[in-house]
Amino acid sequence: MTKIRILPEILSNKIAAGEVVERPASVVKELIENSLDAGSTRILIEIEKGGISLIRISDNGCGMSRDDALLSIERYATSKIYSDEDLFSIHTLGFRGEALPSIASVSRLSIISREPSAESGTEIVMEGGKILKVSDAGAPAGTQITVRKLFFNIPARLKFLKTIRTETGHISDVVSNMALGWPNVHFRLVHDGYAIQNWAASDDHTTRIAEVLGNTLENNLSPVSAKNEDFCISGWISRPDMTRATSQGIHVFVNRRFVRDKMITHALMEGYSGRLMKGQFPTAVLFIAVPFRDVDVNVHPSKQEIRFFRKQQIYEMIVDAVSSCLVHNQKPSWVHSESGETSVISEALAHSEKKHPLPFSGIIKKSLSDTASTYQLPGFSGSKKNPAGQAPLWETAQPENLKAIGQFFDSYILCESGANIVIIDQHAAHERILFEKLADRATGKKLPAQRMLIPETLELNYRQSHILERLIPDLEKYGIEIEPFGKQSFVIKSSPVMLSGNEIKTLITEMVDSALETGIDSNMGKTVEECLKLMACHGAIRANQTLSSSEIAELITEIEACKIPGHCPHGRPTRIKWQRQEIDKLFKRT
Ligand code: ADP
Ligand code: MG
Repeated sequence: MTKIRILPEILSNKIAAGEVVERPASVVKELIENSLDAGSTRILIEIEKGGISLIRISDNGCGMSRDDALLSIERYATSKIYSDEDLFSIHTLGFRGEALPSIASVSRLSIISREPSAESGTEIVMEGGKILKVSDAGAPAGTQITVRKLFFNIPARLKFLKTIRTETGHISDVVSNMALGWPNVHFRLVHDGYAIQNWAASDDHTTRIAEVLGNTLENNLSPVSAKNEDFCISGWISRPDMTRATSQGIHVFVNRRFVRDKMITHALMEGYSGRLMKGQFPTAVLFIAVPFRDVDVNVHPSKQEIRFFRKQQIYEMIVDAVSSCLVHNQKPSWVHSESGETSVISEALAHSEKKHPLPFSGIIKKSLSDTASTYQLPGFSGSKKNPAGQAPLWETAQPENLKAIGQFFDSYILCESGANIVIIDQHAAHERILFEKLADRATGKKLPAQRMLIPETLELNYRQSHILERLIPDLEKYGIEIEPFGKQSFVIKSSPVMLSGNEIKTLITEMVDSALETGIDSNMGKTVEECLKLMACHGAIRANQTLSSSEIAELITEIEACKIPGHCPHGRPTRIKWQRQEIDKLFKRT
């Protein structure tokens, strides 16, 4: 007798459920995806006890005939792909044909469905993967799927579930994410009889974003966009000072699928580079449209991870789009609307729409393209002021005509600027100035260096010395000349004029440690940039340092000439500002 056996279908479905159905929220996600693929414009999600006792999703989509409904619960049964080729060009959210049978194998599941043209609907009831009943049922057009007793036959998974509040939280996140990506679909989430979310279909994407992410963001998000013939990026990003301590506020959709992708998050952060404090993340809603053939969505059973075939190009486009959005009045290079008729965003949307025609529904498709021209955030009537449709941002690259009043606390400089009072942090501002000067040298000639009268020696450990050896050629361009001297010892022969000689050892150790932390192999350019930030920090004037009036004047002229004058290279603000009106108000003059 052979030892190897083919598993019975119910058992293999249960195994698949282990991957697809992690918790109630995963059931909600799969069922909403099915409703969206079916072209629904209204989706009702009812749950009880955090989805543990009940999950019911009702939609007004294309429905299923009796035969289709019976097939839908078979493993690998799908209406979304038919051939090998289709697998490499997925247009829908689902395609693996395993969600319904997996869910059915670990719960009591019922399907009631009717196609709009059919006279009556069908009801199927299953428990633990076995069909208990198939019958005719009167039903509205669309599909209703009810899941009770989730994990009744997998006690280990049931035990693993968290409190009702936590599970409800996960479900609410899933619904929010879906809602962000599909503004023209009405989503309503009801928990134990109370509606906890209710978002009416809207033609204006920004209304949905404000509803889902909260009104405080309403005037603090700005549109980003970029496109070339293959890729299109559009969406909104938050001001650099509206940050969060986690990446939870970053919502990314690739061909309208919500995904978690480290590369995209990384690119977004890179676009903010130098404007965010360490450990802070922006809020962003990004839509990326790529040709279907350019992305592999079949990487993970829950389809939240994807793989791009032209990763680098997408990475660079996101970085550029985000950083040009953050620089005042800088138009993205691809804007070609001279007349001012077409907004950047509407173009991007049209592009994205071309890439992702919706599977069954003509209705959604129509309303989406209709929204294109109104695709603007409330409060940003930027298109009127700027023909490219790029809203004015917070950062001014224009000189502000700062007039210094004086230094106080030996750390700040008080200035008058038109109808504003501005306080400049002298260290942060000087750091920014030096960093930009250093960065300009990256391609140019060597930075003026000073030979050490007595060369300094530096002892490092094994890993550090390995890193420093690789940094030596780059550091030389910036005036830091180092020679290996024995296995783990080095001699520092010169240091840049901008640094006082006694700081050089600490600086080099800090550079090495930072390169160790970020991993030099992943990106040498990034490593060097971190080194420049450290050099700028060490070279900059400190707080508690008295400045002469000519030094103050020079600092102000130089900071005004910077490309990103508002933030130090680590992302701290270099200045704060009050309007005269606010001051007048405080003195009760108005
Ligand atoms: P997949 O979505 O990967 O195709 P599922 O197991 O999630 O696999 O669903 C199987 C099939 O059942 C789908 O391909 C679709 O044809 C049908 N189906 C599921 N849910 C719905 C729904 N809400 N409305 C219409 N058809 C549905
Ligand atoms: Mg599915």
